[in-house]
Amino acid sequence: MADIFDKIIAGEIPSYKVYEDDDLLAFLDISQVTPGHTLLIPKKHVDDIFAYDETAQKVLLKLPVLARAIRDSDPTITGMNISSNNGPSAGQTVIHSHWHLIPRRDQDGLND
Ligand code: ADP
Repeated sequence: MADIFDKIIAGEIPSYKVYEDDDLLAFLDISQVTPGHTLLIPKKHVDDIFAYDETAQKVLLKLPVLARAIRDSDPTITGMNISSNNGPSAGQTVIHSHWHLIPRRDQDGLND
C-alpha cells in the first residue's frame, strides 16, 4: 500500500520540492521544527535504513550536499540537525525512510 511519501513522489499530494533527481526527492516538512526543515527521501520505497540497497544509499551522499545548499540559501542558518528515525520504536511515524534536515540559527532557542 502506498504511504504518504509515495503519494508525494507521485504528485498525488502537494509538496514544496527542494531537490529532485531520478532516485531522490527533498521537500519541506509539513510541520516545520524551524524554517527550512526539509525531508530527504529515496523515491524507491524502503521502510528504513535497515532495508537500504545501493539506490537508497545515494541519500547518504546527497545529505552533505543538500545540507550545504540549504545553509548557503539563508545567511541566518548557522547550524543544522540531521537525523533519521528508523522503526516505530525509534519514533518513525511515516514508514518510508526519510532524513530530517533541520536548520539552526543563533538564538533560535535550542541552547536556551
Ligand atoms: P515524527 O513524526 O516523530 O517526526 P518521522 O521521523 O517518521 O516521525 O517523521 C515524519 C515526518 O513527516 C514528520 O516530521 C511530519 O511532519 C512529516 N510529514 C508528514 N506528512 C507530511 C506531508 N504530507 N508533507 C510533508 N511532510 C510530512
